[in-house]
Amino acid sequence: MVSTTERDGMTWYKCDVCGMLFDSKEDAGQHEENCDESDPSYLQ
Ligand SMILES: [Zn+2]
Repeated sequence: MVSTTERDGMTWYKCDVCGMLFDSKEDAGQHEENCDESDPSYLQ
């Protein structure tokens, strides 16, 4: 789930899975679709 947060007078969109911040809601949503902290592909 993407949540919004105010910082430096801007609205940021945060990936609740990994905590990464995005300045675009679309970017955050796209990231989160591919973000699965419980099963990171790079650890396979
Ligand atoms: Zn993430």
